[in-house]
Amino acid sequence: MTASSSIITRFAPSPTGFLHIGGARTALFSYLVAKRHGGRFLLRIEDTDRERSTQEAVDAIFEGMDWLGLASDFDPVYQTQRFDRYREVIAQMLEAGTAYYCYCTREELDQMRNEQMARKQKPRYDGRWRPEPGKTLPPPPDDVPPVVRFRNPTEGKVVINDLVRGQIVFDNGELDDLIIARADGTPTYNFCVVIDDWDMNVTHVVRGDDHVNNTPRQINIFQALGGTPPHYAHVPMILGSDGTKLSKRHGALGVMEYRAMGFLPEAMLNYLVRLGWSHGDQELFTRDEMIAKFDFDHVSSSPSRFDMEKAYWVNHQYLKTAPLEKVVPEFEWHLQRMGLDLSGGPGLEDVIVAQRERCRTLLEMAEKSHFLYAELSGYDEKDAAKHLKPETAEVLEALVTKLSALPEWQAEAIHQCVHAVAEERELKLGKVAQPIRVAVVGMAVSPPIDQTLMLLGRTRTLARLEAAVEHIRNRSEQH
Ligand code: GLU
Repeated sequence: MTASSSIITRFAPSPTGFLHIGGARTALFSYLVAKRHGGRFLLRIEDTDRERSTQEAVDAIFEGMDWLGLASDFDPVYQTQRFDRYREVIAQMLEAGTAYYCYCTREELDQMRNEQMARKQKPRYDGRWRPEPGKTLPPPPDDVPPVVRFRNPTEGKVVINDLVRGQIVFDNGELDDLIIARADGTPTYNFCVVIDDWDMNVTHVVRGDDHVNNTPRQINIFQALGGTPPHYAHVPMILGSDGTKLSKRHGALGVMEYRAMGFLPEAMLNYLVRLGWSHGDQELFTRDEMIAKFDFDHVSSSPSRFDMEKAYWVNHQYLKTAPLEKVVPEFEWHLQRMGLDLSGGPGLEDVIVAQRERCRTLLEMAEKSHFLYAELSGYDEKDAAKHLKPETAEVLEALVTKLSALPEWQAEAIHQCVHAVAEERELKLGKVAQPIRVAVVGMAVSPPIDQTLMLLGRTRTLARLEAAVEHIRNRSEQH
């Protein structure tokens, strides 16, 4: 392991949708392999499918990668900017005889396919335009723009020593001559990937195992070009908690939706790294630990299941222990999204410390802290009926008197005022604390009462207690 390691990995999403959790996990594994060995990680946007690729999806991928902190060590690569290079290699392959023009029309291909199916054969290109020694090819028609096909070896085997799945062997006899450039000249996926991985000196390809069947074709193209194929790690898919295909219902959401749900990026990475990889029974890993420990020997070759409850659990562990400077900006993002003006309220660090034990997400924390940054829009009806009773008005008034007299707004002193009111009136503490909560929060849930009032500040606390007294009096007059 040296700083000048030549390991290069890549994440190569097609920008046809958001960065979803499956993609994010692939990106993470890929990133970790590079970092573990002091190598470099690159992001490549596979946007050759112009009909399905959108700028919005490209932006969403960058946004997701950025939020997760999976930075590329190179300028991002766009396949659409590399068409000249692809054309150049195709010309070289035509010249070298490792690729050839095929003039089959769609009708001919359909007919070929139907005949093969009628003979109960696997449909495949029959090689009619493939040059062979001693074979005479038909004269090229003038009116059919040709595709370019790769001349796949007909014999031998392709052996993949997959870092996750072990050895996988394909017979070349099973692979037909795939199209590497369409009739309009645009190159196809399997070809572009090889040229890119080759040009970018990628040493390890980490991707979903839905690509396994592409790999022997890609290896053959590499070999035809005289290149050395990278190592491959095909990562099994992620299933829903019930073992079926992962869908939105199970949590197959874009990474940024997890941000909106109140996840911390570090927690998300931690949850994702454990989705298919293990290190003994350790559940929580800092980024440095992930980098130091990640290995393909412990990536499971069977699909993992997405478990939303566990994701929440991991997030809660992070909320409770993460350095405040990591939590503050994310918390602020949520509060601002709610349209709150943070200038008149307490410092975010203090709020996080007061709230984090009882909140599994930042969204929950923001919702529970709303009262600190905005006027109350009313009381929870049930809580008000239960706790803001006629006899409570005097209790709250007594508290107002005591709190107003405090020389300093300080938690311990607030605590003593609340206790004193309870004692003087021979009330259980809850009988005092719950009405205070409803009065200042709007509902009967909050951090410990002294902390709550401390955070809210003297002016707002007193104003809300007084407003609650008035509310109680108005209501009893009406009855
Ligand atoms: N662009 C491909 C995809 O999004 C990935 C290709 C690869 O990793 O080789 O599925």
